Amino acid sequence: MTKKIEVPYKIYLDENEIPTTWYNVRADMKIKPAPLLHPGTLKPLTFEEMRPIFCDELIRQELDNDTRFIEIPEPIQEFYKMYRPSPLTHAVFLEKALDTPAHIFYKFEGNNTSGSHKLNSAIAQAYYAKEQGLKGVTTETGAGQWGTALSMACSYFGLDCKVYMVKVSYEQKPFRREVMRTYGANVTPSPSMDTEVGRRINAEHPGTTGSLGCAISEAVEVATSLEGYRYELGSVLNQVVLHQSIIGMETKTACDKYGIKPDIIIGCAGGGSNLGGLIAPFMGEKLRGEADYRIIAVEPVSCPSLTRGRYAYDFADTGKVCPMAKMYTLGHDFIPSPNHAGGLRYHGMSPVLSQLYHDGFMEARSVEQTAVFEAAETFARVEGILPAPESAHAIRAAMDEALKCRETGEEKTIIFGLTGTGYFDLKAYESFNNGTMSDYIPTDEDLARGFASIPDLGL
Ligand SMILES: *Cc1c(COP(=O)(O)O)cnc(C)c1O
Repeated sequence: MTKKIEVPYKIYLDENEIPTTWYNVRADMKIKPAPLLHPGTLKPLTFEEMRPIFCDELIRQELDNDTRFIEIPEPIQEFYKMYRPSPLTHAVFLEKALDTPAHIFYKFEGNNTSGSHKLNSAIAQAYYAKEQGLKGVTTETGAGQWGTALSMACSYFGLDCKVYMVKVSYEQKPFRREVMRTYGANVTPSPSMDTEVGRRINAEHPGTTGSLGCAISEAVEVATSLEGYRYELGSVLNQVVLHQSIIGMETKTACDKYGIKPDIIIGCAGGGSNLGGLIAPFMGEKLRGEADYRIIAVEPVSCPSLTRGRYAYDFADTGKVCPMAKMYTLGHDFIPSPNHAGGLRYHGMSPVLSQLYHDGFMEARSVEQTAVFEAAETFARVEGILPAPESAHAIRAAMDEALKCRETGEEKTIIFGLTGTGYFDLKAYESFNNGTMSDYIPTDEDLARGFASIPDLGL
């Protein structure tokens, strides 16, 4: 970008500019993400095999690698209007604080009660469950954002919602739990003693603080054993990346409207849904050879699935009740160190992003926890938003890129995803403010233990 950008500080699209379709980036991928496999037969899972677990329409979306644009049903469009379009903000105060010639923009998804982008997919998943005439859904939640989002979505459509919450978060974030209960959800710490898989994990790892992988196993077990229930997942799956494309579609519309051409697009990556959604239309252009962008996934050093993981078929959950996905993984037995407070604790990564990364369409980097909170602090002070620790991974990388521009004098345009707010993460902020936060970098031996759990399929 050489021309000075004359854009408002906050770009709010008009209500009628909210996209009415989701964009399915798989349609433009020459090499499609690998299909989910049945753990018994090792064959691609069929529609019929997925029906006990997922809602029918969501399975169709999961399997659809070809339809480029998928209509957003009217009731979902209506719900989106409660909190969308989300603003694309020109981070002028951050630019000034960093004394950088770079142009920094962020797309803020924290403007709803769940406090993150997760509501974009939660409302879609609840809608399809309702359409199918189900009684309710089950799910897992880690830091609590997904559970909160799904609770809100279920209460909107009058569905029951059973949430298995990773025990460490259940204990550290009682307020999240109360938001979910306010929306009528049942919240159980995981691993619990209510399910077969929970009892098994508790026996094998006494005193475990849980992981997303454990909580997923429990939620799936409950969904498949209760009449009229299905399981819903807040990240990783193709369908979730599809729903989150609303973030990228709005961003692209705003960019086109104001002539903003990003050089670098940055997002934090846990299971890959916000990043997959933010980059979708830009990646589409890149895949079709129409434009080029640097795309950077940012993950914590303590859970480095892209930067140090293996690209292999692995179970999506610790209890091995879920299908297998080909993805960058640390092994389904990998449990990140409990002193890692910054979210993004999942052992695997979206198969869509994994394939794109594997094929060289994007980069990945990992950042240390204290550096992430330093970035969060700077951002909170100058831009006025207390970021979620997950989002602060993207802030860190965006700041680092902007600081490089200060060295080189380049006026690069950087867009990053600010996925949510950090009001329920004040325990982590407390340890940062007290100077007791540490940086845990797993050793090769730590990782080897997780890798040992990746099944050898001989594929
Ligand atoms: C869940 C969450 C993430 C990470 O999930 P992705 O699927 O990788 O997007 C990031 N930020 C916030 C605020 C979240 O709630």
